[in-house]
Amino acid sequence: MSKHILILAGDGIGPEIVTAAEQVLTRVNEKFNLGLTWEQGLLGGAAIDAHGSPYPDVTSEQAKKADALLLGAVGGPKWDTIERSIRPERGLLKLRSELNLFANLRPAILYPQLADASSLKPEIVLGLDILIVRELTGGIYFGQPRGIRELENGEKQGFNTDVYAESEIKRIAKVAFEMAKLRGGKVCSVDKANVLEVTELWKQTVTQLHAEQYPEINLSHMYVDNAAMQLVRAPKQFDVLVTGNLFGDILSDEAAMLTGSIGMLPSASLDENGKGMYEPCHGSAPDIAGQNIANPLATILSVAMMLRYTFREEAAAKAIEDAVGNVLDQGLRTADIMSEGMNKVGTQEMGQAVVAALG
Ligand code: NAD
Repeated sequence: MSKHILILAGDGIGPEIVTAAEQVLTRVNEKFNLGLTWEQGLLGGAAIDAHGSPYPDVTSEQAKKADALLLGAVGGPKWDTIERSIRPERGLLKLRSELNLFANLRPAILYPQLADASSLKPEIVLGLDILIVRELTGGIYFGQPRGIRELENGEKQGFNTDVYAESEIKRIAKVAFEMAKLRGGKVCSVDKANVLEVTELWKQTVTQLHAEQYPEINLSHMYVDNAAMQLVRAPKQFDVLVTGNLFGDILSDEAAMLTGSIGMLPSASLDENGKGMYEPCHGSAPDIAGQNIANPLATILSVAMMLRYTFREEAAAKAIEDAVGNVLDQGLRTADIMSEGMNKVGTQEMGQAVVAALG
């Protein structure tokens, strides 16, 4: 198997956090003799500036060839006023759908060293380890018809369509059940089946797949409004949560905040064969770009997810996660996770400390 990575630094803090992650990748590649190779590409605002498109053909060719992609983040005020169809975020959506990256995995793990950073009481979040599996290429974000039309009375009306085929539901549910096998053996499927037919089919399909192929997994169902509430009331009741694109978007941000800092959370978006794009959950943070203060740990932990899920290098993945735990134990903190008595460091210093902790 070739082991080639496409690195897309993107915009804002993207280049800074990706540089730190690349140093970690270099070290782990040597240490574990992984044989990984990589090249750089352009996506988002950086690609608009160079090629007039957020996802140019040259990037598309590189992305198809790669086994995995590492992304910083895209977007920023510089491109917010250009025509909607060629904005940076459109490039990212196109890339995800072109590569069929339908399964978005977002772990929300609380590092015990950062329990104080959560807005919830430590006893509610200590030991938190949830995996949100969000369907990423279907549902209301892509459903047709969509648009803004004019009614007969001259009033404007906005409309979108939430659609899921059985096959789309099955493949994302399968990912959730497979992940649960590797973790706590529990899946909670989130829907709004009391109101929306599309999620009634979701619930039926998940239930059927469970009965046919995963009876050993503990499956439960929850309405999305209750799930939003339970996530802040008693989040540790969850192991794997699986849901559609819209509900997943919202619940995964809510779960992220339980851990205190979005700068700590990695994510993976996978296709059916384990090819994946790995990126931090946060955006390009234009407000702090270029100041060497962004937290690179989410991007570094995204490299760990890449090694685990695409390249099946568990030992190397675990080594990165342990190294991150180690630098937190040393008291090193970027500004977003800083607390009293800790040692404040910049993006570069944090990256170098993780490299050093890898040994
Ligand atoms: P954001 O995540 O970029 O920033 C939200 C807040 O969190 C800001 O105060 C920022 O300074 C802080 N923050 C984010 N990452 C951080 C880090 N690593 N370390 C320390 N602090 C961090 O979200 P936003 O402000 O809503 O969006 C900014 C831009 O990012 C927009 O153009 C948006 O479209 C884009 N965006 C891109 C992606 C992506 O590329 N996947 C995702 C979300 C937003």
